[in-house]
Amino acid sequence: MAWNILGNEGSVNFLKEHTRAEKLRHAYLITGPLGSGRRTLALAFVKALNCEHPPAEGEFCGQCLPCRQIDGQAFPDLFVLTPPEGARDLRIDQVREMQQTLALSPYRSKYRVVLIPDFQRATAAASNALLKSLEEPPSKALLILTADARESLLETIASRCEVVRMRPLPVGELEKGLVTDFALAPEKSRLLAHLSAGRVGYAVRYARDESLLERHQEAMDQLLEQLSSSRRARLQYAERLSKQKTPSREQFTWLVSAWLPFWRDVLICRENASLPLVNLAYEARIQATARAVDHATALSILKAHEEALAALDKYANPRLVFENLLMRLPKLDV
Ligand SMILES: [Zn+2]
Repeated sequence: MAWNILGNEGSVNFLKEHTRAEKLRHAYLITGPLGSGRRTLALAFVKALNCEHPPAEGEFCGQCLPCRQIDGQAFPDLFVLTPPEGARDLRIDQVREMQQTLALSPYRSKYRVVLIPDFQRATAAASNALLKSLEEPPSKALLILTADARESLLETIASRCEVVRMRPLPVGELEKGLVTDFALAPEKSRLLAHLSAGRVGYAVRYARDESLLERHQEAMDQLLEQLSSSRRARLQYAERLSKQKTPSREQFTWLVSAWLPFWRDVLICRENASLPLVNLAYEARIQATARAVDHATALSILKAHEEALAALDKYANPRLVFENLLMRLPKLDV
């Protein structure tokens, strides 16, 4: 079985090479935007290292017990370290606990693997604690970190890892890949390739879970409704949302993340740039908005979305952040 990862051939081949014992390093850092397939790549690497019947060097069968256990993240020598339930950041005591496990011999495979997704979310103390594992790596231990960018980690950490980058694919290439490798209908592939802005992981998640696409459409419909609403109606909307069961921060982050590309699309239309739109299904409304606002306004609203996301990420009062953003949206009749 091939690794079945669309694009990013350089990174895939690099890790295939590294499945050879003499090449394998103690630590890897896979960087790329959320949804670009970092975790899929990490798990493919772990499968290739542990497969019992590899069809060729650096490949994996996908059928043997280790392959299946790794897919289900139930492999006894693989630990996936994520923040505690309900928390956002990886904590120092988790890193310490992981280090004790990492020092033990593997149960049944050659290496004990620890995968830490989104290591940019670790606290400074947790990062410093992890340094120890990188400076004096236990033998038979393999550490795989993922992060949005190398620059988000301490340089002392990044420099001790083999860095592998995952990039979004050109939208047209992803569209083709979704048809050939994931058997999606052409129309759907086009929609998802655009919506995910070339990030394979995102596109596949949307393809597997219909409700995500519905939620996205609801978010877009709500944005368009707010654009034509009064300030008072917008505040009532924020209040309604904050009373719902889903925690406000999560809900507002989802909405603002869904809305942000709309404004990028508006700018693309305004500039007649030959860049792919994210929201193909809303092209007419995007065009109408692009005619109704000037460049500076569209740009400042786009920035307001970025600022709101950063604020939501930093424990600011979620409802206040969201209300501020709603107040900055223009009143349009599109
Ligand atoms: Zn296998």
